[in-house]
This record gives sequence, C-alpha cells and structure tokens, in this order.
Amino acid sequence: MPRMQSPSSINTYKQCPRKYFYQYILNLPTKPSIYLIRGSIVHEVLEKFFDLDITSLDEKELEFGMRSFVTAHLLRLWTKNRTNLLILGLAEEELERYLLESQDMLQGFVTIFAKKLRKRAEICGTLKEAFSELTPSVEEEIINPDLKVKGFIDAIHTHDKETVIMDYKTSKKDELTPAYRLQLSIYALLYKLKYGKAPDKVGINFLKFGERMMDVDEKLLEETKKEVRLIHELTQTDKIKDFPTNVGPLCKWNGGQCDFYDTCIKQRDI
Ligand code: SF4
Repeated sequence: MPRMQSPSSINTYKQCPRKYFYQYILNLPTKPSIYLIRGSIVHEVLEKFFDLDITSLDEKELEFGMRSFVTAHLLRLWTKNRTNLLILGLAEEELERYLLESQDMLQGFVTIFAKKLRKRAEICGTLKEAFSELTPSVEEEIINPDLKVKGFIDAIHTHDKETVIMDYKTSKKDELTPAYRLQLSIYALLYKLKYGKAPDKVGINFLKFGERMMDVDEKLLEETKKEVRLIHELTQTDKIKDFPTNVGPLCKWNGGQCDFYDTCIKQRDI
C-alpha cells in the first residue's frame, strides 16, 4: 500500500532517502528552527492580511494603512510565539534581526500588492472591488486519495479568467530550485485532479525579492505524475537498508546539522 506523500516528503526523499526513512517512516521528531517558526508567523500575517477591511483605511494613506496592519500583526504573533522563539537559544539581538527581516519582507509584499491594487482599481472602479478581486483563496489543503498525494496551497488567485497558484517563501535567495519547481508542479497536478482544469501558472512569492512564475502544461503534469509514482515505488518498504544515505553538505554545515545526524552516524554501515 503506497504511503501518502507530500511535496515535502518527496523532496526529502530526493535529498536523502535515509532522511526520509527517519522522518516519515520512523517518525523521529524534527528540531524547531527559526526559519520554521518565522515562516509560520509570516504566513499567518499574510492570511490575516486578506481579511483586512480595506474601507476602514484612509484612501490617501492606503499603503501606510496596509503597512501598519501587517506590522501590528507581525508584532502580535511574534510576542505570542515568544516562548517557542526563546527555546531556540538565539541571542536577543539575533531574534531582533529576524524580526526586522520579517518586517522588511512583509513591507515588500505590501509595496507590490499596493501597486497591483491601484492598477486593478482603475479597471474595476473601486478599491473595495479591486481588493476583493485580488484576494486569493488561502491555505487550501488538497488530498488526492488515488495518487496518494496531498499538498497545502498558500494562495489560489482567480481573476481575468486566469488561475494562479502561489506559494510564499521567506528564503534568502529567489531561485526557483528543482525542489521548489517540483513542489509547484505537485500543487498544479493536485489542483487539476480536483477541479478538472490545470492552473494557468504557478509561482513563488519570495517575500524578500518578488514573484517568480512558472507555466503549467500537460508535459509538466505527466512528468510530475511519474515522479510521484516513482517515489511510491521506492518507499513501499520499511527496511532501513532500502533507504541509502546521501552523505554530503546537507549532513553538517557551518553552524548546523541534519536533524537526524546523531542517529544516522551510528547507522552508517547499514
Ligand atoms: S545525516 Fe546526512 S546521510 Fe544522514 S540522514 Fe541526514 S542528510 Fe542523510
């Protein structure tokens, strides 16, 4: 019986089959990290952003109002997550640096969004209508029981007869890596299987840099299906020896190590 996969599990297998074994078969716990906590806080702020009542803002100070909104929510969630952040053992100055960086990312998001909003308002007449048109459906989980894949989509935009799937990332680089491309292709496939029509585009909003998009076509969807089936075949077993190690820079790096490094090092001969 194939296991349920996700973009994360598939990319973990491709990174290192042994890591997949520890994380998804033995279910060993992963360590919390500033990137995970910060990522989840920023995602929550963006989700809240689209609940904003745009009519409550002064039209002349629209961008300022939106900036204040995201900053207020960021600070509230940062404080709410204070205990989890402190557990990481980072110095106060370092935490402050991550907070300011997150604030910059959200301000960048607002800058781009405000431009789109004004442009849209010129077409549809009012800011309220423009905001409603640009508001995506957020945090949609799609599970396909036949293909045994699930994915959590950050945002689905539908306007001008076009559907665009968007994922938000707080990455340091704006490169559409093979792992990101595969994640987006899986979302496109899941969307097509659920709604009977593929999205026109998929993309990542690298909050620090802007949006990077990818076209979707039948060839991409077919290749993604094959990739998913291959991972199903390779993960039918639950024997450690069937999940080889991929020793390399992802095991240990300057200032960090793989979550399973200590366990893995003792089992390298298997
Ligand atoms: S330590 Fe290296 S080889 Fe072992 S699971 Fe992690 S990435 Fe794979």
